[in-house]
Amino acid sequence: MFSLFNTKNQPLNFPPLQLFNTESRSLEIFEPLSNKEVRIYSCGPTVYDYVHIGNLRAYVFVDTLKRTLLYNGYVVNHTINYTDFGHLSSDADTGDDKMMKGLRREKMDVSLESMRLLSDRYIKAFNNDLEALNIIKPTQFARASDYVNEQIRLIETLEQKGYTYETSDGIYFDISKFPTYGRLGNIDLDGQQSANRTEINPEKHHPADFALWKYGTLGWKSKWGLGFPGWHIECSAMAFATLGKQIDIHTGGVDNIPTHHNGEIAQCESATGKQFSKYWMHSEHLQINNQKIAKSDGNGLTMNELYQAGYSALEYRYWLLTSHYRTKVNFSYEALEASKQAFTKLRKLIFVDWADEKGRPDGNYQQKAINIINDDLNTPQVIALIWEIVKDDKLTKGEKRATIVELDGLLGLGLDSKSEDGAKIFSHLKIADLPEAVQVLIEEREIARVARNWPEADRIRAILDQQGYLLEDSSEGVKVSKK
Ligand code: AMP
Ligand code: ZN
Repeated sequence: MFSLFNTKNQPLNFPPLQLFNTESRSLEIFEPLSNKEVRIYSCGPTVYDYVHIGNLRAYVFVDTLKRTLLYNGYVVNHTINYTDFGHLSSDADTGDDKMMKGLRREKMDVSLESMRLLSDRYIKAFNNDLEALNIIKPTQFARASDYVNEQIRLIETLEQKGYTYETSDGIYFDISKFPTYGRLGNIDLDGQQSANRTEINPEKHHPADFALWKYGTLGWKSKWGLGFPGWHIECSAMAFATLGKQIDIHTGGVDNIPTHHNGEIAQCESATGKQFSKYWMHSEHLQINNQKIAKSDGNGLTMNELYQAGYSALEYRYWLLTSHYRTKVNFSYEALEASKQAFTKLRKLIFVDWADEKGRPDGNYQQKAINIINDDLNTPQVIALIWEIVKDDKLTKGEKRATIVELDGLLGLGLDSKSEDGAKIFSHLKIADLPEAVQVLIEEREIARVARNWPEADRIRAILDQQGYLLEDSSEGVKVSKK
């Protein structure tokens, strides 16, 4: 994917890779634990529903991290998990169980088998989203229900070492036994202790103690009885099983910091007596109308909804990369439209205007891009650099093309696709030349689309698809090509 030499065949100079570590709250020079590989664990989604476009920001961020590590010459071993059985929707072990909510919504009976079936569906949908976003596949996906024995063994270890206690509803981790509990994000434990929170389980010794095993009438058999492992223990056991007891980087969204990731640190380090993850990295949230994305508030947009509104996954990826992963961003269709227009212009240059131009990547720009990306993954600046390259009169078209395609190894915008595949987007038919019946269908679909009547727009798109016509919604209206 990458060439590590500049135009004069001089090796490029890699400045130290600096990453922001949530634990130290500062930029640190990345030094892997071993020379063999970099081990990364990323918290995956709870697969009870379609993920929303905010969730996907967390995986586009990890993909940028991974591409940067690869560019720097590292081998990466990466796990993403699927949480496919009940953990409670609030971090504090209270509230509604998301998987139960999914089963109720889909009118499925409450059993482990149904949970598996329900999650099969949403795992597939999540994988499709990752693929459409051009996210490099992790070395392994780990599914929580496939690692229940490992989770039980880890809880047993914690019990043997004296870190647990039992209440009437389960086995809990006793944070008072782990003095640095809450160090990630500097959690105010005393505040939690004194706050008068109604949901606090009165049997817990401290509000921040968390469930390792929850008794239930459903679940898996264990020495403590039937039940489910807690959410944090899932990730710890899967990280141990797939990557080992110590990993280089653990990632997630910022909401994972206070409870889930502090829980993971406490369990893992109590069990092994060693540091669990050397670096903790978190991506900021995506908001809509400056509010948290929540399906219950009706703003949990999915990729399918973006497609229906006429935007592709790569257009969404381009838009995401125009913000740094540690800044909060506000989603709007206006912003996405502006990105779509810029990205379309770029793709037209690469796949049409400069399609046959030959040249070699320019070493100076490559060097600039490395300097930028190694400074805590500054993708907005890499995108700005690409536009600088487009405008640079000192480079030939061939050199511009080669340099941008090279830098796309970092951005993953699909600019390295085969020219013919990329050019397909621009080989459109004139609507007036199409059979009249097809024109009528296109017109009807356009009316449905403007009215945001997605089911109708989809129905018509499917009919046209069967007749061999591909539709692409663009800022200049619908574009049609023949399959
Ligand atoms: P969940 O299924 O809630 O565990 O979320 C899966 C991933 O998405 C986690 O890494 C979350 O931190 C992340 N996430 C959740 N909501 C958002 C959001 N609005 N913006 C960005 N990332 C999010
Ligand atoms: Zn996790």
